[in-house]
Amino acid sequence: MLNRRTTFLILFLFTLPMYNFSAYAQELKLPEAPIFIDQQSFETRYIMKGGNILVPALFLKHTGVRVDWNKSFRSVVFRYKDRQIALPVGKSYFDDYGSATGVWRRLPLSTKTIQFDGETFVPLIDVVKKLGMQVSYEGERTFITTNIDSPKGAIYKGDSTKKQVALTFDDGPDDYYTPQILEILKEKAVPATFFVVGKEAEAFPYMTRKIVNDGHGIANHTWGHPVLPQVTTSELVEEIQSTQQVLLETVGRVPDLIRPPYGAVTKSDLLVLNEMGLRVIKWSVDTIDWSGQSGDEILNIVRREISPGGIILQHNFQTDERLLDGTIEALPIIIDELQGRGYQFVTVQTLLENQEN
Ligand SMILES: [Zn+2]
Repeated sequence: MLNRRTTFLILFLFTLPMYNFSAYAQELKLPEAPIFIDQQSFETRYIMKGGNILVPALFLKHTGVRVDWNKSFRSVVFRYKDRQIALPVGKSYFDDYGSATGVWRRLPLSTKTIQFDGETFVPLIDVVKKLGMQVSYEGERTFITTNIDSPKGAIYKGDSTKKQVALTFDDGPDDYYTPQILEILKEKAVPATFFVVGKEAEAFPYMTRKIVNDGHGIANHTWGHPVLPQVTTSELVEEIQSTQQVLLETVGRVPDLIRPPYGAVTKSDLLVLNEMGLRVIKWSVDTIDWSGQSGDEILNIVRREISPGGIILQHNFQTDERLLDGTIEALPIIIDELQGRGYQFVTVQTLLENQEN
């Protein structure tokens, strides 16, 4: 039997950690503000210290610079062409690499580089100036002019004067939906393009081979499906290369197409992908099938949004909830209906042939 006091004490002890947790969570909520980079606005969390704005180091990827983490020096390294600077955590200085001299020079920063909530925050204005960019202000707003060339942008669709369309399936292969999709495509004699996740291609090599043997296009969708703006440049390169490697080992070739997970890329990511010889593919029709859409809902989206040169986004990964049953249901009808309207199904590779992209 518990007396009143004990009951109260137990209740108090029970609520204590919960209270602390919510106070902690609130403390972590940083304010956000837009920063204008080459006239485009990007929201970022920030910290103000002695009149200096600090932003997450990875935010700088929006300017086009490469951002990496040097483990042994615990420093953030920013690179653009031959410029290279390193900011060690907890220090109010940075090291500047002289590409001509090969010598690092230590120079002061306005404020310390700090770590907060697992992220490294750097003094924004110092960094962009050191990297040779221009900064101006208008009221509370910060404008950065990078002088960094624009990358080749992402491709959303093919030639709109040709009545062609590409079916694309992301996140697989798996051994549940992929065989069903391949079966329908075979029956209808229609090609598609599979944007595979490297670790799934490794887990289901026979399915990866079947995709290629059935005459479909294969493309890179990273190794582990991260949000690319949230990974360092080295991690981005590793995500792409390891997937290319497993595809080379499994099907004997590497694609020159990549679709970033969630379609999310920064200017820096695009420049790196361009340099790796990859074309970045998004989509013009998003069926949102991953959210458990019914076959009818998917069909309605395709009917409404399809146009010549269109790229349709669907998925082929297995979940416990069988979220993609609608994809399987809609697929044969999409093919019949669009063919009835005069569309020809092609791989993304074919869709983009003879294009300037
Ligand atoms: Zn995906």
